[in-house]
Amino acid sequence: MQDHKNGSLLDKLNRPLRDLRISVTDKCNFRCQYCMPAEIFGPDFPFLKKNELLSFEEITRLATLFVHSFGVKKLRITGGEPLMRRDLASLIQMLSMIDGVEDIAMTTNGSLLARHANQLKKAGLSRVTISLDSLNNDIFGKMNGKGVQVEEVLSGIQAAKEAGLGVKINMVVQKGVNESEIIPMAKFFREQGYPLRFIEFMDVGNTNRWDMKSVYPKKKIIEDIHTVMPIEPIEPNYIGEVATRYRYIGSSDEIGVISSVTDAFCSTCNRARLSAEGKLFTCLFASTGHDLREPLRSDLSDNQLIDLLTSIWNGRKDQYSIDRNSYLKENIKKDKIEMSRIGG
Ligand code: SAM
Ligand code: SF4
Ligand code: SF4
Repeated sequence: MQDHKNGSLLDKLNRPLRDLRISVTDKCNFRCQYCMPAEIFGPDFPFLKKNELLSFEEITRLATLFVHSFGVKKLRITGGEPLMRRDLASLIQMLSMIDGVEDIAMTTNGSLLARHANQLKKAGLSRVTISLDSLNNDIFGKMNGKGVQVEEVLSGIQAAKEAGLGVKINMVVQKGVNESEIIPMAKFFREQGYPLRFIEFMDVGNTNRWDMKSVYPKKKIIEDIHTVMPIEPIEPNYIGEVATRYRYIGSSDEIGVISSVTDAFCSTCNRARLSAEGKLFTCLFASTGHDLREPLRSDLSDNQLIDLLTSIWNGRKDQYSIDRNSYLKENIKKDKIEMSRIGG
């Protein structure tokens, strides 16, 4: 068996494999326009069937190989909406038993968190990133496509805090839609004591009608905040951190900006993404994934699976965000996996 624990598993651009993101469902109770527009993801949309999803045992087996053979230490559960997967706490518990896992986090829209937070914490979840794009019910209700009210997410945030989970907030900023909420969100979450991360609207998938004009760039986000509450940049916590972090001057409160569009960070990208049906994606903007479900179900040995994972990562040369401008300039339409399939 090959041992890559010391980071010797490198891709074609010399990037190690560090993080594994696991999507547990392609379903969601929201229809955010920038992710799962309701007109596309309607009642007849062919979501995955139960037997097409990786089972908890299959997910745990793969995660164990990533941790033991490649030195992955952080796992993130995502979706679709991960809390739509029945009995998710059992999966968290199984993953938390893997020797060597240091951190299990989950990205969620927060709407179902109030009823699950305690159980998830007990099962071994350490942190949640909760997505909330506005504090204004009209704006938020439109953005989530279901009229869900801000209060529902705020009660999820409160429940997560009370359960002892670490909490961060994600806000996607779309020009002409919710940039007016940057300051109210920054003030509110600073007062509440939660780090807020602004995410540039990205051209993930093919259905969200992205165009460059709808991107509210990192530079503007920083300027807007700095004018009202001065901030200064701070050093990354670790290589490969996706958010550029800033501190409110004179305090330890911080914000982050994830600028996949205007300031690409592909050179340090060390993440692999496992979709709910068992495909491994080596980039958020990939067209296809590498099927692991069939090999898992055809009784491959652990060593054979490790060889397969090694060859996938060794062959990786994705750097879509760096190449984006050339695609746009040459009007090349790249077929891309939908965000709801691999979870951001
Ligand atoms: N449903 C969960 C949630 O919303 O947190 C987890 C999955 S969601 C796909 C993961 C993250 O991706 C969320 O923070 C969401 O806001 C973000 N996201 C989705 N589509 C995006 C887009 N087009 N551009 C930027 N971020 C996006
Ligand atoms: Fe659902 Fe999250 Fe996508 Fe919104 S961003 S539609 S909550 S998966
Ligand atoms: Fe990583 Fe792909 Fe995003 Fe670049 S575009 S940072 S390679 S996921």
